[in-house]
Amino acid sequence: MDPKQARTRLLDLRDLLDARHHRIEKHLSRRDEPLPADSEERATELGNHETMAHLDGSARAELEQIDRALARLDAGDYGRCERCQQPIATERLDLIPYATECVACAGRAG
Ligand SMILES: [Zn+2]
Repeated sequence: MDPKQARTRLLDLRDLLDARHHRIEKHLSRRDEPLPADSEERATELGNHETMAHLDGSARAELEQIDRALARLDAGDYGRCERCQQPIATERLDLIPYATECVACAGRAG
């Protein structure tokens, strides 16, 4: 993939995830108010909270990967597998612009 195009895609994705992260954070911070007294409502609230926290966790993990990919782009290492140093297939980078491993290595890692 063209590095310039890769950077644009990574930055776009970063914006998207960053916005999601902030939205979730706002939602979670509002949960400082007391939980509903009704036990059923309470379970729903807690469930939502957990789901949101989980979503936030994966958004943040993705953000970290994107930052890493951007650093690799700067270093001229973008699109190369971190494990075997072979080029990562374009189709894979199309799907996951921040992939740091080729399909074979990612598969081996489980
Ligand atoms: Zn590899």
